[in-house]
Amino acid sequence: MGFELDVDATRWRHGLTAKVESTTGLVPVIKGNGYGLGRDLLAAEAGRLGLDTIAVGTYSEVPGALAAFTGDVMVLTPWRPFFSDAVLDDRVIHTLGRVDDIAALAAAAPGARILLEGETSMARHGLDRHELAAAVAALGDLTVEGFAIHLPMQGSNFAEAQSWAAALEASQVEATTLYVSHLTPAELTALRTHRPQLEIRPRIGTSLWLGDLGALSVRATVIDSHLVARGEHIGYRQKPMPRDGTLLVISGGTSHGIGLEAPKATSGVVQRGKSLAKGGLEAAGFSLSPFTIDGKQRWFAEPPHMQASMIFLPASATAPEVGDSVDVAVRFTTATFDAVNLR
Ligand SMILES: *Cc1c(COP(=O)(O)O)cnc(C)c1O
Repeated sequence: MGFELDVDATRWRHGLTAKVESTTGLVPVIKGNGYGLGRDLLAAEAGRLGLDTIAVGTYSEVPGALAAFTGDVMVLTPWRPFFSDAVLDDRVIHTLGRVDDIAALAAAAPGARILLEGETSMARHGLDRHELAAAVAALGDLTVEGFAIHLPMQGSNFAEAQSWAAALEASQVEATTLYVSHLTPAELTALRTHRPQLEIRPRIGTSLWLGDLGALSVRATVIDSHLVARGEHIGYRQKPMPRDGTLLVISGGTSHGIGLEAPKATSGVVQRGKSLAKGGLEAAGFSLSPFTIDGKQRWFAEPPHMQASMIFLPASATAPEVGDSVDVAVRFTTATFDAVNLR
């Protein structure tokens, strides 16, 4: 009973099914902390949804994905000759974004299944469009399964998708599948209309797994509580308490992804301004926590510990009991829960 995620399974799965049914060719992205839900759970869901391919972030995530999912596993990080954990398997689809690497993989693993990636304005990975001819020349016996682009979340990403689609069709690259990210449903439709010869496959994580936040609720548990007096020193840093109140020890610390800064959505300027007006605790070096107790976002008594946070609650507020759950705002892509409960 600690820092837990409760999933309304019926509601969440309803959202997943709706998204998959409305998104032709969807490839679910299952990487990192599994968007807070865990990669194994998401891989099992991808199987339940009948999807043929999943995308993982790194090679270290491949073995688990191969074990948890029976279809193909695409790796978003481009293969590099110096990766010691690269998994060569018939179900693995590698990404290549440097001409030298294409030649190196062709030599190391002829027949391997690959995607070529184009460099977008993201400027993270990928081939420059002037390198496509050299890329094709280096392919050897590699099996090209498609072309991929990773688009920024804002700006003119649709124009960029259009121009890459055009570049792909004009090139010698024998790929008719284009993997994209961060396009709206309307943009996907428009791209298909403009490029009917291409199969457009969106790679989606956040808006699939976290598309219905109402199906997810995070609970932190009060695991201890102490009355404190103004001026009393507490914690690793022996900081004096600003007023009389209660010191709550709540499950959820740095190991769960609780940082000193509450997620931006809950520590907006207005909220912060209000809190400041209430007691000037920020000026006194306190930080607003992501925990909401008795209707208000509360202050850390000191920086979060590994497994728990110490929260100051003024005497004017109603303190929860030990064992009670409290609300906490999390950033799902950095959260790790003690348990994920499908109910
Ligand atoms: C993470 C990632 C995605 C999915 O991003 P979301 O914002 O979670 O949908 C798609 N493509 C690539 C290359 C990625 O790294």
